[in-house]
Amino acid sequence: MQSYNSFEVAQKQLRSVAELLNLDRATLELLLWPQREFKFTLPVKMDNGATNVFHGYRIQHNFARGPAKGGIRFHPDETIDTMRAHAGWMTWKTAVVDVPLGGGKGGVVCDPRKMSVRELENTARAYVRALWQHIGVDRDVPAPDVYTNPQTMAWMMDEYETITNQHQPGVMSNKPLSLGGSQGRRDATARGGVIVVREACKTFGVDPTGAYAIQGFGSTGQRLAMFHQNLLGGGTLIAVSDSTGAVFNKNGINPRELVSHKLRTGAVEGFPGSEPIDPKSILELEVAVLYPAALENAINVGNADRVRARIVCELANGPTTPQADRMLFEKGVHVIPDILANAGGVAGSYLEMVQNRSSFYWKESEFDDMLDATMTKAYHSVLGASRERSVTMRTGAMLVAVARVAEACKLRGWV
Ligand code: NAD
Repeated sequence: MQSYNSFEVAQKQLRSVAELLNLDRATLELLLWPQREFKFTLPVKMDNGATNVFHGYRIQHNFARGPAKGGIRFHPDETIDTMRAHAGWMTWKTAVVDVPLGGGKGGVVCDPRKMSVRELENTARAYVRALWQHIGVDRDVPAPDVYTNPQTMAWMMDEYETITNQHQPGVMSNKPLSLGGSQGRRDATARGGVIVVREACKTFGVDPTGAYAIQGFGSTGQRLAMFHQNLLGGGTLIAVSDSTGAVFNKNGINPRELVSHKLRTGAVEGFPGSEPIDPKSILELEVAVLYPAALENAINVGNADRVRARIVCELANGPTTPQADRMLFEKGVHVIPDILANAGGVAGSYLEMVQNRSSFYWKESEFDDMLDATMTKAYHSVLGASRERSVTMRTGAMLVAVARVAEACKLRGWV
């Protein structure tokens, strides 16, 4: 597969939407670049007594609509350019769902799979010691991302509160429930994806109780499998893949039993009553809805012409290459792009921030209702923009988002 620089890709996407919006030169230049970038070194004491010096980053792409918002990754392959790209995509994601936040992303170049729990905690706390003056409920609110989780957020929040001598649970989102996390946040990404599928089915006359397939059976894929049936009143899950293989049953796979099997055995393969299939073929099955929930570039020029789904809902970030996106559009496949399809996560983080600010926590059903209203409205804004201009839903989503951010920059008198 062709290698590419994701920041260059992100800038190219913005340039093409800027042309459609007739953005002026100064606004485009402002949005092409992060507003602030932090690079720092993190000396971390390892279990063997040695000190490792890791490199840390935080990119704050845009603050025009609110504090920066986005994950922190611990990953050996992170570069400043991947974080710049993802910070920008977070700005568009928060704008698409119209929550009052900007975009950010950060990370530490390290390999958590080779680190102990104590070393991970030391790294998380060192990250906050380096950055604490530049984050906070009104500046920048990080969240978990690749190889970080609610426990990482708990350590980071504790370090921040210790340094500032204040109770500030809202400084991080997606925290454990007992430390100011929200009921419903854990499920918000998958729930948001199914809500936009529900709207797409209604709009295009697709039977929501038809067949569906899921690529990737991690935290998002497992929840999707269940919510699809719960929220849409049915649906036959015919195929699921993970990194070790794929299973198929044309009569349906029970989502709950497959989750138990995966938790017990570590893989979807060997699920009773199913037959193994080539994991690549999962993208080519005749289904009402296909959920790519694993990898980047899964749908590409090599397989896009064989995709037979009516709706592709991109829970993963970047699962469809730009050429494949055009091929699917021309074939009439309705692609719900990642910045809309998986924005339930950040919409849920916003609800958690609101609860933290007011120190008042709602019932899960209230959280779910608010998430539903936010995602439903966002889907129809993007659909409206894509129809008005006869463009893909991806371009429609960028048109909506970039216009909102550009307007905020202009009203502030920045451009
Ligand atoms: P996860 O690590 O829990 O799960 C990833 C799954 O993908 C695993 O089941 C893994 O086995 C599977 N996988 C890996 N390689 C595969 C392959 N070649 N074929 C099929 N499956 C493969 O991650 P997650 O949190 O479920 O995230 C999945 C995707 O959703 C990622 O792209 C992530 O960026 C995106 N996303 C997640 C969230 C969230 O809140 N978790 C929010 C926004 C976007």
